[in-house]
Amino acid sequence: MRKRTIGLLRLMRLRGLLLFVLLWWLLPLTVEASRPVLIEGAMSVETEWMIEALAHPREERIGGWRFVSGDYQGTPVVVAVTSVGMSNAAAVTALGIERFHPVAVINQGTAGGHNPVLHVRDIVVGARSFDASAWISHQEASGADGRHVVFYRYDEAMGTVTGEAHYIPADATLLAVAMECAKGYRNGRVIQGTMATSNSWNRQMARIQFLYEQTGSSCEEMETFAAAVVCQRFGVPFVGIRVISNTELYNETFQPETGLFCQQFALTVAKAYAEKRKLAEEGV
Ligand code: SAH
Repeated sequence: MRKRTIGLLRLMRLRGLLLFVLLWWLLPLTVEASRPVLIEGAMSVETEWMIEALAHPREERIGGWRFVSGDYQGTPVVVAVTSVGMSNAAAVTALGIERFHPVAVINQGTAGGHNPVLHVRDIVVGARSFDASAWISHQEASGADGRHVVFYRYDEAMGTVTGEAHYIPADATLLAVAMECAKGYRNGRVIQGTMATSNSWNRQMARIQFLYEQTGSSCEEMETFAAAVVCQRFGVPFVGIRVISNTELYNETFQPETGLFCQQFALTVAKAYAEKRKLAEEGV
């Protein structure tokens, strides 16, 4: 009788141990699988469609900013509505990373064309972005056309400013996945390019041409670089994706409906990236 009890106790202990080991092994896997892709957009024309496309949406506000988590065809996604401008984009990216621990961040939305190959409805996948307002002008009595400037970057280690634009590259895998998805985009062309971010809306042809020639900028908008800075700090993979909604080069004025195409494209990229990550984790 005693022997049987001791045997039973041993068996139960063994089963408990096995269960613990199994949970210890499984838990990180399930936590990992539930990490979302964070997709940001500034305005409702750049976010509403994605929010509608999410199954089981759950909304929360942090600092007044709206974050909606849900499921897009099996991929966990959080859509963040940043509002317009660089400080909003930076704050939302930092909060979103801390709160949701995303596997990647995509900042997307509308933009104005700089590269003459681009028309409204075309998409730019940002191989890099830079702060188009980070410049030092020459000393001169006039010349407010913005062309007599040197772009700068701040070197943190040196504590000084150097005379070159500060480009932040996109994550190589995200970029590759986005360019793979580009093959399925039917509303225009998709190119890899450079986002010029600032809080300005620039309609001056000379300045557009200057930016295109001096910095290689494909398009301008107000959020990408700000989000890229934060992602770089946190070591989170990042890419910016922009649909051309206006281009001064061809007198094509702002068309808010284009926001839809970028949202559709961004969700496709998020899904493809998450699937690729999963396969890599499973060692396929
Ligand atoms: N013109 C719009 C408001 C856009 S505000 C309206 O009348 O409703 C600027 C937003 O659009 C920013 O989030 C920015 O990222 C994007 N944007 C689109 N085209 C732009 C351009 N040519 N220059 C700067 N930002 C642009």
